[in-house]
Amino acid sequence: MTLTLPFDNSYARLPIRFHVRQAPTPVKAPGRIAVNVGLARALDLDPEALASADGVAMVAGNLVPGGAEPLAQAYAGHQFGGWSPRLGDGRALLLGEIVSPLGRVDLQLKGSGPTPFSRRGDGRAWLGPVLREYLVSEAMAALGVPTTRALAAATTGESVIRDGRALPGAVLLRVAASHIRVGTFQFFAARQDTEALQLLTDHVIARHYPVADGPLALLDAVVAAQARLIAEWMALGFIHGVMNTDNMAVSGETIDYGPCAFMDEYHPDTVFSSIDSQGRYAYANQPQIAVWNLAQLASCLLPLIAGSEGSEAAAVEVATAAIHRFAEIYQAAWIAKFGAKLGLTTPTESDRPLIEALLTRMAVERADFTRTFRGLAEGRARDEFLDPAAFDTWAPGWQSRLAQDAPGAEARMAGVNPAIIPRNHRVEEAIVAATAGDFAPFHALNAALAAPYDAAQDDPLRAAPWPEQRVQRTYCG
Ligand code: AMP
Ligand code: MG
Ligand code: MG
Repeated sequence: MTLTLPFDNSYARLPIRFHVRQAPTPVKAPGRIAVNVGLARALDLDPEALASADGVAMVAGNLVPGGAEPLAQAYAGHQFGGWSPRLGDGRALLLGEIVSPLGRVDLQLKGSGPTPFSRRGDGRAWLGPVLREYLVSEAMAALGVPTTRALAAATTGESVIRDGRALPGAVLLRVAASHIRVGTFQFFAARQDTEALQLLTDHVIARHYPVADGPLALLDAVVAAQARLIAEWMALGFIHGVMNTDNMAVSGETIDYGPCAFMDEYHPDTVFSSIDSQGRYAYANQPQIAVWNLAQLASCLLPLIAGSEGSEAAAVEVATAAIHRFAEIYQAAWIAKFGAKLGLTTPTESDRPLIEALLTRMAVERADFTRTFRGLAEGRARDEFLDPAAFDTWAPGWQSRLAQDAPGAEARMAGVNPAIIPRNHRVEEAIVAATAGDFAPFHALNAALAAPYDAAQDDPLRAAPWPEQRVQRTYCG
């Protein structure tokens, strides 16, 4: 089985200060974990070739396929608000890009060995974060959320040390529209490298927003894409966990599935990440943090915007206005998403109190986010409230609103409120089993997540965790 991939590496053609050429570091014993057959076919790649010995060797980093030009991308970023002028791919490598039926995409390895950006890190990933990203990113795709995808994963036959424990090493092959981040712009802005900023802007416009006619239009497009993305996260109870500027893709895809998690019980202050001690990236903070990150992007683009607006002052004014448009786009997307979750065909701003009243009661009564909304479609939402009377006093207002709408609300709600999400305890269970050598729970969970709206009423994957199953903390890995 020969592995041929139609590489066309536009990022590698950017000047040398954008990246560092770096080959993956070979591993002891590559082993196949999974190949995403559906995604491979959608990309017009041969799934059998990816599953072959050569394919697994490529995923593990032992074989660099013809046409690949592996490199570590340079970027900077604000991590928890603190500035780092030099981050870059410390444990990831861009193999190259392919032009596919899904458009131009990056093929990137995560966990493929050290790079000049590794600092004190080992450049590796262990099985836990690789399986978590595989499961959660594929679940997000099945839920219709813009996201990077998992194309394949391999074990390395080597150990990775985390917190003094030797854990099995793994590599993920992921696919993204690109891995260009807010932090990529920051890297050059911090160096006052306007030429590179211009090249990066032109590259991003050509690649992601071809109708944008300049840096201000690019900013507008990224603001809109992020506003819609965050509304999608909120409507699923998804908490990214590490919304640093280096983890926000300008494409509008969800990237970097480190300590991410879906909420079980709804509460706006929910945080899972072990390193987010201040709750900066709590569920309810995500829209404001997105705005903060986008303001960083705007300030990077100011010198270019000033060029077309005629002055720095004019640039600040139009860029500020662009950032302010986030709120409007986000609020409209939020109403559309949550209104649809309540079965409404044409939700408007006037439906906000109804939605917020439900969420407030859910928080007080510790209702499970996913089960409550799914329960609306199945007539059993009240069971999710510690005191079901809290639901019963809300429901009549909802019923009368639905009575003014088209019939068929149950079916509409069942089509937008998932029954199955990658619950933390299930992800953890799959990781624990795989660490002991049993990948069956991982494959079963992954298969179920591909059809999130279809589960049978008694599917155990729909269940909320028992108190002793609850996972409160997640890690970057
Ligand atoms: P993240 O928190 O995943 O966004 O990563 C932040 C930075 O740390 C990036 O520059 C990563 O490449 C780098 N990094 C994270 N883990 C490792 C590791 N094990 N080895 C080297 N670099 C790492
Ligand atoms: Mg990152
Ligand atoms: Mg990460």
